[in-house]
Amino acid sequence: MEHIHSSIEKILNRPDVAESVRQIEQRVLSHPGVVIFLRSHPEIDQRMIERGMLKLNEYAEQMDGNRIIPEKAVIEGYQPVLHLEKGQITVAYEKTEETRERENERALEKRFKSLFLPDEVRDANFSDFDLSTTDRKLALRAASQFLNSIRTKQPVRGLYLHGSFGVGKTYLLAAIGNALKKEKVAAILVHAPGFVSEAKRRIRTDSFDSFLEGFQTVPVLLIDDIGAESISPWVRDELFGIILQYRMMHRLPTLFSSNLSYDELELHFGITNDAGDKLKAMRLMERIRTTTNPIEFLGENRRRY
Ligand code: ADP
Ligand code: MG
Repeated sequence: MEHIHSSIEKILNRPDVAESVRQIEQRVLSHPGVVIFLRSHPEIDQRMIERGMLKLNEYAEQMDGNRIIPEKAVIEGYQPVLHLEKGQITVAYEKTEETRERENERALEKRFKSLFLPDEVRDANFSDFDLSTTDRKLALRAASQFLNSIRTKQPVRGLYLHGSFGVGKTYLLAAIGNALKKEKVAAILVHAPGFVSEAKRRIRTDSFDSFLEGFQTVPVLLIDDIGAESISPWVRDELFGIILQYRMMHRLPTLFSSNLSYDELELHFGITNDAGDKLKAMRLMERIRTTTNPIEFLGENRRRY
């Protein structure tokens, strides 16, 4: 080893080689990122710089100012960062700003789930919300008050949007969902009939508990078309009952849309109408009534088919 080392030394000491090494070193030491690093560590002395020259060079070669040069990147999506560790200059690879942003975006996409909803409302938003009738204005105001409370992290009641077929309840719910997504608030928007059949499909699988927990704990839950699902004691008591009980206790808002009023929905939950069922329907409705503000849509049917 010793003689290899000394022959390298000899080469390095040749005047022409020494000159180009000196140039590289100068380029490295005047790299803005290296300058900032050395300035922020006044304890680094000449000897440490000489020993760390390869690391400083590795850094300087990949970086233009404080940005990675993509075609020079050693690991795609990562950039070198200089560190001082026990008196030694080292390079660590960390995710670039762009990589982190991309990952955040993806995580956010996952935080907003829309299940079993028609494509036509996927891009629903408030800017093309039709305000031709008073009830629509009231609905929009309720929606924006709800979103304001969420934005400012105030406790807030959910909404119960009801009215006949085609007046725009699903559209409004989807617009609220999309606004939550923009605010980076995790939410699930689900169509009640699809949700119930999915729950029934999962009941005997290992994934049921985590499925249920997802709906219990999501910061905002939006249930479209409640009352249109096929109801059974299990759906009422073990599915909606358990989810809404949890959400009520933890003050997590739930928004509903329905073709039915509160009273009509209570009849729907009554199933057989015997005393036991009536009581259970009343109990579930109590949870919905106490956690939502009702908004009635009167407008004309907007559907053209
Ligand atoms: P509902 O859920 O009350 O039955 P929808 O929300 O499905 O009604 O609305 C019926 C139709 O009208 C849909 O095609 C929907 O995209 C459209 N629509 C509803 N509200 C609006 C709105 N404010 N602006 C634009 N289109 C709307
Ligand atoms: Mg609808």
